[in-house]
Amino acid sequence: MSQRKTQAPRPPDPKRDQRQLRSLTRRIASLDAHNIDELYGLEPVYEPGTSPGGRVVPEEFVAVQCPYCGERFETRIDLTAEDPGYVEDCQICCRPIEFGIEREDGGALLGVKVQRMD
Ligand SMILES: [Zn+2]
Repeated sequence: MSQRKTQAPRPPDPKRDQRQLRSLTRRIASLDAHNIDELYGLEPVYEPGTSPGGRVVPEEFVAVQCPYCGERFETRIDLTAEDPGYVEDCQICCRPIEFGIEREDGGALLGVKVQRMD
């Protein structure tokens, strides 16, 4: 008695599925890059306190303490700047403060360090 397999539905071709998946992923990736261009390049949109679609807001207001006079003041942090360090004058005593921005991998603000320049 010979063993006969019952007629099974044809198994899906894994190679073809992978190809479809890859092209789909490529399309999503290019769409995403386009969206980022729109968000950060042409018309940056800033809504205080919100990050639409889970995206990182391009700027944030933080309270810092002046390392010279000890006064606290609010300043705007530009999260789109590539350089994490910059210099801004204290709003009270006008002496130059060195700001160091700490960011997560995704670009979200972790913290701000302030340093005297002398
Ligand atoms: Zn100051």
